[in-house]
Amino acid sequence: AKTGGPGSFRLFDPAMNQQVVRRLQIHNALHQALEQGELQVFYQPQVSIASGAVVGFEALLRWNHPTLGWISPAEFIPIAEDSGFIVKLGEWVMRTAARQAADWHALGHNSFRMAVNLSVRQFADPRLPSLVQQVLTDTGLPAHMLELEVTESLALQSVTTTIGTLNACKALGVKLAMDDFGTGYSSLAYLKRYPLDSLKIDQAFVRNLTQDAGDAAITRAIVAMAHSFGMSVIAEGVETTGQLDFLRTLGCEDFQGYLFSRPVPPDEAVLCFPGYHPG
Ligand code: C2E
Ligand code: CA
Ligand code: CA
Ligand code: CA
Repeated sequence: AKTGGPGSFRLFDPAMNQQVVRRLQIHNALHQALEQGELQVFYQPQVSIASGAVVGFEALLRWNHPTLGWISPAEFIPIAEDSGFIVKLGEWVMRTAARQAADWHALGHNSFRMAVNLSVRQFADPRLPSLVQQVLTDTGLPAHMLELEVTESLALQSVTTTIGTLNACKALGVKLAMDDFGTGYSSLAYLKRYPLDSLKIDQAFVRNLTQDAGDAAITRAIVAMAHSFGMSVIAEGVETTGQLDFLRTLGCEDFQGYLFSRPVPPDEAVLCFPGYHPG
């Protein structure tokens, strides 16, 4: 809200108060949401640029609150991260997504991966590798079909701890991807030491790929560097065929985005598998 001018100061800002109230409301409602089944996991297909086949899915949280309506994860995830509730929430998403993937596997679909987002908070917990193993055992999902998406903010922790946890997860046989690559803090020197299978190019770079020479250069550099480290590359937020064609010429392996599909509930996601015949 606009205040009176330089030097004037309002102790009680109604607009700011509204934000605080909204945050508190969401914070309080989130615990109930999990217990009362208001949360759902949607799945967004990941597609091979070369073959056009669906090679994976990213699990994304959705929340439909009975009175507040749909609340974006961009709004409630940061609140859950601040309070620490993200650890419980993230565990629920991992279990739900792994169970879904195991169900699809049981239907005969065996060449796809299920990617789940991991908060740094989850990553900081030394019990993470045993939790992942527990989820694999409980669901029966083959380890190589589960992928953990970590963000560059994990570089804010001790490097040896980070590498230790990554290696312990890797030893279980799961895949590791660096999410939102290029937007965060990671040093290229550390990147080389992380046992990553793939880099995800953030949609901030993909958005203007065909118009902005700078974004094109960054994307080209990320793909080249990933390949020289033996990692594959997936681009997120692909909305146009122009973007897809450009990514193809750069040698980017996979893409994800509205061009192919938005995140959808499981009964729609399963239709993405080749040769699916309902009934
Ligand atoms: P993210 O991990 O970078 O996920 C990609 C976001 O881009 C998703 O937003 C997805 O719906 C959106 N998106 C996908 N394709 C396109 C496209 O072509 N165009 C545009 N404009 N957007 C596209 P969403 O689902 O709203 O999630 C936002 C963020 O919330 C995620 O960003 C992730 O950081 C976080 N999040 C969502 N679910 C979870 C979760 O289970 N755990 C954790 N820790 N974070 C989550
Ligand atoms: Ca992600
Ligand atoms: Ca991302
Ligand atoms: Ca993002």
